Amino acid sequence: MSTKAFAAQTAKSPLGPFSLTRREPLPTDVQIEILYCGVCHSDLHQARNEWSEFAPTAYPCVPGHEIVGRVTKVGKDVKKLKVGDRAAVGCMVDSCRTCPSCTRGLEQYCQHFPTLTYNGNDKHSGGVTYGGYSDSIVVDEAFTLKVSDKVDLAATAPLLCAGITTYSPLRHWKVGPGQKVGIVGLGGLGHMGVKLAHAFGARVVLFTTSPGKIEDGKRLGAHEVVVSKNADEMKGHASSFDFILDCVSADHDINAYLSLLKLDGTLTLVGAPEKPLPVAAFNLIMPRRQFAGSAIGGIAETQEMLDFCAEHGITSDVEVIPIQKINEAYDRLLKGDVKYRFVIDMASLK
Ligand code: NAP
Ligand code: ZN
Ligand code: ZN
Repeated sequence: MSTKAFAAQTAKSPLGPFSLTRREPLPTDVQIEILYCGVCHSDLHQARNEWSEFAPTAYPCVPGHEIVGRVTKVGKDVKKLKVGDRAAVGCMVDSCRTCPSCTRGLEQYCQHFPTLTYNGNDKHSGGVTYGGYSDSIVVDEAFTLKVSDKVDLAATAPLLCAGITTYSPLRHWKVGPGQKVGIVGLGGLGHMGVKLAHAFGARVVLFTTSPGKIEDGKRLGAHEVVVSKNADEMKGHASSFDFILDCVSADHDINAYLSLLKLDGTLTLVGAPEKPLPVAAFNLIMPRRQFAGSAIGGIAETQEMLDFCAEHGITSDVEVIPIQKINEAYDRLLKGDVKYRFVIDMASLK
């Protein structure tokens, strides 16, 4: 099926109109008309080939992995969804499904590497996968998610990456009542981290470089907001955190946050800056601190997160844009000027 899309043709060129072909649904495939797609900072990193060592970008690149829409066709063996249902797709469209990670429901850590929604190796076409900046997608039902009929679709799209990427580590490290938890960076991931950590009952402290975001941070659920450029304010929190989730997209001083962990506290990186982050050894050694990372979440956990958010009325704060504004949105992302996720209304592609 011919599909309209927006693609980057090189690391330096702006995104523009592109046409691609989606496969006809196979027996276990679901064809989805994409209604909204969130704009993740990873889309920008990838479109501009900023992760060239870990995941070089194949061009043309059609980003987008926060996909929500409606089912338009299903293969004959599909059981999870039917035509007309709301459906979603996140950062993965397949994995080996048999390795120890996959069988534990941790497809994101597939030992053969998951098939990412874009810039992945498409098992079917033999080429590259194309993401959600497009008007349709065809995905095996095992990698689709169900979306409640009651939720706002545009505001739900960002849950498919920003939501699960913060939900999964907060759950894994058992964040809850009685704990002091830091969220670093109030962007797409950070604002979901604040909302979810608050919903899990922790005391939430937001760290931001933007004084203009203090009020928003509190409105979103932070009990306290620290402007990280203020050294005295930072010192006041030394050795006091159980857990810190770092959601920053660019170069920054990780030691400033490691020093805020108490004994056995953990700082988990979900932000993926282009350059390595130097760590001062004594910041880990004393007092027995842990520095960790986390990638998105498995399919079952993503469904659990969507259901949790629907039940608790949690969505993303979004600015809906036509796809023609995507390059402007990328420029604004780089300035930290997003409140707090851009979402593309795919009707603009028609
Ligand atoms: P975003 O919306 O652009 O937010 C990033 C935030 O980081 C900004 O709003 C800003 O918050 C802060 N920031 C930006 N530049 C900074 C700097 N130089 N120093 C300190 N703080 C800075 O990005 P996002 O979509 O949330 O993504 C964040 C990162 O997570 C990206 O690197 C993305 O690729 C990565 N990511 C990882 C996963 C995973 O599975 N691990 C999944 C999705 C995304 P303040 O204004 O509040 O300081
Ligand atoms: Zn993402
Ligand atoms: Zn696997």
